[in-house]
Amino acid sequence: MTNTKKRLLTGLQSSGTLHIGNYFGALKPFLDIYQDYDSYLMVADYHSLTSLRDPEELRKNVYNVVRDYLAVGVDPEQVVIFRQSDNQDHMELAWVFNCLVTVPFLMQAHSYKDKVAKGLEPNAGLFTYPMLQAADIALYDIDVVPVGEDQRQHIEYTREAVGKFNRAYNDLLREPEEMILSGVGVVPGTDGQKMSKSYGNTIPLFGTREEIKKAVMSIVTDSEGDIPENVYAIHKLLRTEEELAPIYNEHKGRYGDLKNILVEDLETLIAPMREKRESISDEIVESVLAAGKKKAQEKSSETIDKVRKAIGIR
Ligand code: AMP
Repeated sequence: MTNTKKRLLTGLQSSGTLHIGNYFGALKPFLDIYQDYDSYLMVADYHSLTSLRDPEELRKNVYNVVRDYLAVGVDPEQVVIFRQSDNQDHMELAWVFNCLVTVPFLMQAHSYKDKVAKGLEPNAGLFTYPMLQAADIALYDIDVVPVGEDQRQHIEYTREAVGKFNRAYNDLLREPEEMILSGVGVVPGTDGQKMSKSYGNTIPLFGTREEIKKAVMSIVTDSEGDIPENVYAIHKLLRTEEELAPIYNEHKGRYGDLKNILVEDLETLIAPMREKRESISDEIVESVLAAGKKKAQEKSSETIDKVRKAIGIR
């Protein structure tokens, strides 16, 4: 049935309230490809522990991120959606990898150095994070991992851990490839800079009509030229240049009209997702995660059994 498909895994952590930059940069690229693979979506709650110490927030984040993905149209029948902490095989294989790689090797990880440079506590979890990620991937016999350019090195780390395992024991584990998604590039915010929660320049992905309107009306436009560039840059995500040309021609120089049209187009994209999100109860999320847990464990237990035999634990 599906066993000719390659296997794909994406790890998710909640980034709080999503904006359309997250949608076009991360969720939509996943939506476009996941059905071509045997796909796994893992909610990485153990990874979040490297920086989060609020149990209620951690729990809420899990539900929210599942809800976000379901709301944008991910079909839980077509992908295994599961919570990392529901499957202890991740912890076990991460430990095995930790015993294979060296401290100097982990010290070269860019993301560890970057995070510490930004002031994050250099806890041991943050330091060994790439080995937990390696376990997340290797357990499910994964071929490809879609990542942003900034995560490329972590997949190299996974290959290194898997390679060391395969050389030390039997050739058991699959070395994954990164898949750098050539998405839309950087989505600009209302001020023309990269859209980001920390810049306060976002258009919320599940925002109400009023919130969308407020954000669009705040888009910075310079007073010269026929085309408000910051409006056009966002509009281009929603319609083709051929569709936009007559609209921008007809409303040349009338920035308010163009913003109103953008509000309508955003509302057409967002309203169904917003309504769907509101209809997804905690019970629905729980049943999706329960089904995912079973399927994830089915697959990972095959791997971990082989690993245990190979290393001499059982
Ligand atoms: P963040 O929570 O900001 O790390 O965003 C999560 C993911 O959303 C990132 O890894 C990107 O893939 C995507 N993303 C966030 N902001 C943007 C943006 N302005 N343009 C394109 N993609 C973005």
